[in-house]
Amino acid sequence: MTKLALRGGEPLRTEPFPTYHSIGDEEKQAVLEVFDSKVLSDFLGAWSDKFYGGEKVRALEQAWAEYFGVKHAISVNSATSGLYAAAGAAGVGPGDEIIVAPYTMIASATAALVYGAIPVFADIDPEIFCLSPKSIRKRITPYTKAIIVVDLFGHPADMDEIMAIAAEHNLIVIEDAAQAPGATYHGRYAGTLADMGVFSLNYHKTIHSGEGGIVVTDDDELAERVRLIRNHAEVVVGNKGTANLVNMVGFNYRMTEIEAAIGREQLMKLESLLIPRIEAADFLTERLQIFPGIQTPVVKPGIRHGYYLYSIKYDQTKIGVPRETFVAALNAEGIPMVSGYVKPIYLEPIYQQRIAFGTDGYPFTYPGYKGNVSYDKGICPVTERMHYQELMFTNICHAGIGQGDLEDVVAAFHKLYDNLDEIKESQ
Ligand SMILES: *Cc1c(COP(=O)(O)O)cnc(C)c1O
Repeated sequence: MTKLALRGGEPLRTEPFPTYHSIGDEEKQAVLEVFDSKVLSDFLGAWSDKFYGGEKVRALEQAWAEYFGVKHAISVNSATSGLYAAAGAAGVGPGDEIIVAPYTMIASATAALVYGAIPVFADIDPEIFCLSPKSIRKRITPYTKAIIVVDLFGHPADMDEIMAIAAEHNLIVIEDAAQAPGATYHGRYAGTLADMGVFSLNYHKTIHSGEGGIVVTDDDELAERVRLIRNHAEVVVGNKGTANLVNMVGFNYRMTEIEAAIGREQLMKLESLLIPRIEAADFLTERLQIFPGIQTPVVKPGIRHGYYLYSIKYDQTKIGVPRETFVAALNAEGIPMVSGYVKPIYLEPIYQQRIAFGTDGYPFTYPGYKGNVSYDKGICPVTERMHYQELMFTNICHAGIGQGDLEDVVAAFHKLYDNLDEIKESQ
C-alpha cells in the first residue's frame, strides 16, 4: 500500500487538471465582425425600432428560440438579470410569497426579494438536490404567487409534478436552468418546462459569452414584460401604450452585440460541449459506484443530465471517516473535490437578520405581508444534511478532460479505500 499524501506520502498526481474553455476561432471571428461594424450595442431605451436591440442580439434570440423550441427568447446581460426580470414579469410584489430553492446560486432566491416579495424556502430532494414537490406543497399559503425552481448541477427538477401543483394553486413557475443548458426532461429541454425559463451565459457555465443570460417563454405577454423590464420600462410604457403598469420599473439588462455574437457561436457548440461532460460523468459513475458509502449522481428515468457539476453523496456511517477528512485526503492526492455546495441560503445574514432594503426590515416587516415565514436553522433538513454532511462535488467533467485524468480520480478513490484504516487512525 502506498502511503496517503494526507499522511506525508507521494501524491498520486501533482499536475493540475485541465481547465475548461469553450471559446474558439468561431467566436473570435464573430467578435471581429462586430468590431468592424463598430456597433457594439444597438439598443435604445425608448419606444422605437431600436427598443429590441441590434442585429446580433436579435439573431441570438431567434437562434435560441428555434434551438429550444420556444416562442420567445429574450437576451439579458446575466441570468441574475433574467431571474429578476422574470420575477418582475410574473407580477409579484410586496406581500407576496415566492417559494424558492435553498440550495442554489443566491440570485435564484434574491429575485423574489428585489420585488419586495418574501422568499419562502422549500426543501430539496435528497437524490437530485432540486426542490422537492412534497416540500413545495407544504410551503404553499394563501400568499404564494410563484415558484422559482432550479435544475441543480444540470439535473432537471421534477417539473411535471411541480407544474401540476402550480396549476392547482394558480402559481407562476420560473425555471432557473442556468446549470442545465441542453439537459432534457422526457424529451423536452430543461429551461422550457415552466412559464418562464432562465439560462446563464456567464464564464463558468457550459456555454458562455463572458456574461449573459436568456429568458425563454411561450407566453407573449410575459415575454413583452421581460423586454420592457430589460430596457427602461417606465419611460417606454407611455408611448408604447402598455396597460399593465405593475413592475414596469425598468433596468438596463441589455446584452451587447459582442456578447450576442459570441453567444450564438456558443449555442451552435452546445451539443458538442455537453456530450464530453456526459461521457466523463458516465465514466466516473461506472467506476465510483462500486465504493461502499459513495452515491454517484442519480439520473431519474427520462432525464439527460447536463453535469454542470459532478455530485457525490458520501455516507460517513458506512465509510467511518468524516467527509471533510475524505475530501482533504482526495485533495492531497491532487484530485479536485469540494465539500458541500453553497451554504443554505436562508442562513445568510440577509435572512437571519432580516435586513434587506433600508434599515427597518423591508420587505419582511411590510405591514401588507400577512404571512409568517421562518428562516430558522432546521427548516430544510435535507438541504442542511447535504451541505454539512453528505454532498461533495467536482467540476472536472467537461470537454478537454482526458481519460487519464478521470483514471487518476478513480485511482485516488482506490488509494483512499485501501488506506481507510490509516485515515481513521489519523483522526
Ligand atoms: C450561475 C447561476 C446563476 C446566475 O448566473 P449569472 O449569469 O452569473 O447571473 C443563477 N442561477 C444558477 C443556478 C446559477 O448556477
